[in-house]
Amino acid sequence: MRRTKIIGTLGPATDDPAVIDAILKAGMNVVRVNFSHGKIADHKRRIQLVRSSAKKLGCVVAILVDLQGPKIRIMRFKEGRVTLRKGQEFVFDASLLDSQGDQHQVGIDYKELPTDVQAGDYLSLSDGHIEMRIKSVEGPRILCEVLNESELSDHKGINLKGGGLSVNAITDKDIKDIKLASELAVDYVALSFTRSADEVNKTRQLLLDQGSKAKIIAKIERAEALGSLNEIIAASDGVMVARGDLAIEIGDEEVPSVQKRIISQARALNKPVITATQMMESMIYNTIPTRAEVSDVANAVLDGTDAVMLSAETAVGEHPVLVVEAMNRVCLGAEKHTLSKQSKHHRLDRHFERVDEAIASAAMYTANHMGIKSIISLTESGTTPLLMSRIRSGIPIFGLTRHMSVMNLMGLYRGVYPVFFELTECKSWEVSQKAIDLLKKLEWIQQGDFVLLTKGDQLGIGGQTNGLKVIKVS
Ligand code: PGA
Ligand code: MN
Repeated sequence: MRRTKIIGTLGPATDDPAVIDAILKAGMNVVRVNFSHGKIADHKRRIQLVRSSAKKLGCVVAILVDLQGPKIRIMRFKEGRVTLRKGQEFVFDASLLDSQGDQHQVGIDYKELPTDVQAGDYLSLSDGHIEMRIKSVEGPRILCEVLNESELSDHKGINLKGGGLSVNAITDKDIKDIKLASELAVDYVALSFTRSADEVNKTRQLLLDQGSKAKIIAKIERAEALGSLNEIIAASDGVMVARGDLAIEIGDEEVPSVQKRIISQARALNKPVITATQMMESMIYNTIPTRAEVSDVANAVLDGTDAVMLSAETAVGEHPVLVVEAMNRVCLGAEKHTLSKQSKHHRLDRHFERVDEAIASAAMYTANHMGIKSIISLTESGTTPLLMSRIRSGIPIFGLTRHMSVMNLMGLYRGVYPVFFELTECKSWEVSQKAIDLLKKLEWIQQGDFVLLTKGDQLGIGGQTNGLKVIKVS
């Protein structure tokens, strides 16, 4: 049983229902719908396809909508693309119309860019493939020197090295997309280019206004976000180490250690964390990952990530099923290492305000120090299994709930396995036995196993977990 969860991005390569069936069977736990690309009709159709396939196969799969955010892009060229020579001058012109770009200049969609930058700054385009140094800014025109020979095509992204753009994290498109995500009742919404806790709070309000309880994943991909990392983690329901844009803003050499910091901070603050971007990039074309990619995925698992994410590999790659299978294999391999199971001193120095946190911690320390085979948590909101999963362990945590939405949420948490359980049909004195009977029937536990079970005295009410039992399965 794999503990680390796999996220795959939907796209043209997963539009065949047979491919969706195969990637769900291969173990994809969360699908990402990237609102930076594609039309509304595509998103709707893809979500529908995943939901019907999951229903047919009896899989649990969460849906994560990734908002575009304020990604700055160039406009289009007359000819679609140009080749730039090293040393030549090139101008980004906020007053230039779309489709007017040529060898010397191109328009930009973010009109304030000229006031955010100055001579001496470096711009990076096309995910770092092209670099330019700003020579001067004249009104709406940013004059640059091209630092490497390169091809530049329509709509490529622009990043300012070192960060510092004043652009707002929640764009008008995002506000419309939040409405759409609410209509589609998705489980998670990822906020791109998060700069502050305030932006997370605003997003939450926008979701609540639409009646959505979707959980918010703050994408850490701006230099500034690292300065208020703890506040952002605390305000959100989880974070993503978004290594693509982050590498451009802070330098790729900084990313591996920052990844470790973000993962450990998220866990310490009881939040889930996703590691993303280029994890198995070469499998867009190849049938096996490189040794370096295998190590990268394995190291994210050893760092303690909840989930590893695939982007283009599944969305537009040639082998969407093989890449999920490869990821599954590599995660399982890494999880055999003791480092992946060793519990550190998670929050042992903390005072617990919440009863459920005290119970979750007691359960994990008991389980890790006794021969406990499985942990069973009866949950209304998924909080107790989440808190349990913050403490490293090799012991499976079964989150039993009667809510499909909570099943989906738990799909992201490392080491947590969602199980549907209709506890309102049980009498309070028989609920533990019914839960054990169900897991025995599913062959997750066996006679003679010692298991731990947590629940609340008041069945069916969230945040009420107050009991922990050690049970020998009879
Ligand atoms: P993106 O985010 O794929 O939406 O850009 C992830 C990243 O920047 O790594
Ligand atoms: Mn990004």
